[in-house]
Parts: sequence; structure tokens; C-alpha cells
Amino acid sequence: MHDSKRPVVIVGNWKMYKTIEETNTYIQELSPMVKDSAAKVYLAVPFTAIQSAASQAQGTSIVIGAQNMNSAAEGAFTGEIAGKMLKDAGAQFVIVGHSERRRLFAETDAMINQKIKRGLADGLQVILCIGESKEQHLQDKTNEVLKAQLDGGLADITAEQFNSLMIAYEPVWAIGTQEAATPEVAEKAHAFCREWAVSHADADHAEKLVILYGGSVSPENAAPFLEQPDIDGLLVGGASLSAATFSQIVNCKR
Ligand code: PEP
Repeated sequence: MHDSKRPVVIVGNWKMYKTIEETNTYIQELSPMVKDSAAKVYLAVPFTAIQSAASQAQGTSIVIGAQNMNSAAEGAFTGEIAGKMLKDAGAQFVIVGHSERRRLFAETDAMINQKIKRGLADGLQVILCIGESKEQHLQDKTNEVLKAQLDGGLADITAEQFNSLMIAYEPVWAIGTQEAATPEVAEKAHAFCREWAVSHADADHAEKLVILYGGSVSPENAAPFLEQPDIDGLLVGGASLSAATFSQIVNCKR
């Protein structure tokens, strides 16, 4: 059973989808459907939609955030965005180290670590994504990969800062493939992450750390993940694009 010391958090990651108008319509549709949910609802929207999403979400239980940021406070970085700009626009959290950023934009653990430090300094809650490739999975290297990503991504992060962090275990082979991990396979990885957190911070902070599963989550497969002791929530890509579908995932345990 999921440990009730931790909240259940369901995060939608819209990727590069939705205009401002589509965002407003979505939030108007979603908010009444999730208002009685025990789960916390987070939406990582495109940069351009953050401000209007945050104002639409005011007075609702929906928390608005971003999908990426630069590690510098500000500067001559054409086309980039700073954490304080996200915060200024109304973002409360940021996703860092998504596998699409690692794979398509060559982000390393060291770069991700800098982003996390900056995001926390700018007052954002940070969701760090980690996960192994198909090949690494088949070679039984999951724990090795997770350890390297956690050691690198969270280097020099203090136990206190764990309060503002979440980890998302997202096996790369499960993202956008309709091939979700089984709840049992995901639980093993989550338990490994929690053990890592005990050794890196302390048992108290590790116990409170929210660890999400992501990878082809749908209304049909969502509930059993949340029955696992170390799975505290879900990071949902494709199935978060429809408010009706996403609300079914948010409400799957009600
Ligand atoms: C994601 O983008 O983080 C994700 C998990 O995508 P999907 O749910 O579509 O697999």
C-alpha cells in the first residue's frame, strides 16, 4: 500500500502542445473534474501558456509549472529561459532532465545538476526525471543507471533541499510507447531510489520524498501503480492532453 505520509501527485507533461486558448479551455474543463480529488494535480505547460494557465488555475487545486529551464540566473543566452522568469510568470515547479531533453538536446547529469540548483534557488519545486534505456534495461543495468543519474543530478543537494524535490522514474522504453512498466518492475526502481535518498540525505527526508512513475500511463493502467508502497504518483505525457482522460487518471483511486 502507498505510504500516506506522502501525498499522491499526478503530473501532466504537455510537451510542445497547446496554445494559450487551448490551455484556458482545458483548465476550465479539468478543474471541476478534479476539485474533490485527494491527489495533487500538477500541469507542466509550454512557456507561453504559463501565465494564463496560472491565472486560470487560481482558486483551483491545479498547480502550474514548466518543462525546462536554463541553469543561469540570467544572461546572454539567446532563446533560453531563467527560473526567475518562470516563477514571475506563475510557475511553481519545473521538470528537469526529461529523457527527451537528455536524448534530443544532449543534456548531461552535470547540466541537470546546475539546473536543479538554480531552480531551487529561484524558489521552484523541481521534478528530476531519471530512467534507463531499453538496452540498459535488457542488460539489467537499471540500478547502475539510476545511481549515476541520481549521484550526478543531485550532487551537493542538501537533505533540507529534498523537501522541494520530487523524482520521476521514467524508463525511456516506456515513454510514448504504450509499453508501460509493470507496477512491480517500477516499484523495484522506486525502492532503489528511496534507498539512495536514505544514503544521500537521511531516512526522514527519504521517507517524505515523492517518487513518481512515468511511461505510457493511461486510465486503464494507472491505479495499480499507486498501490505500490514506493510509488507516490504519476507523470503523464500523452494521456494528459485530454482533460477528460487526465481527470480519470487523477481520480483513479477515488
Ligand atoms: C512523459 O512525457 O514524461 C511521458 C511519460 O509520456 P507518456 O505518458 O506519453 O509515455
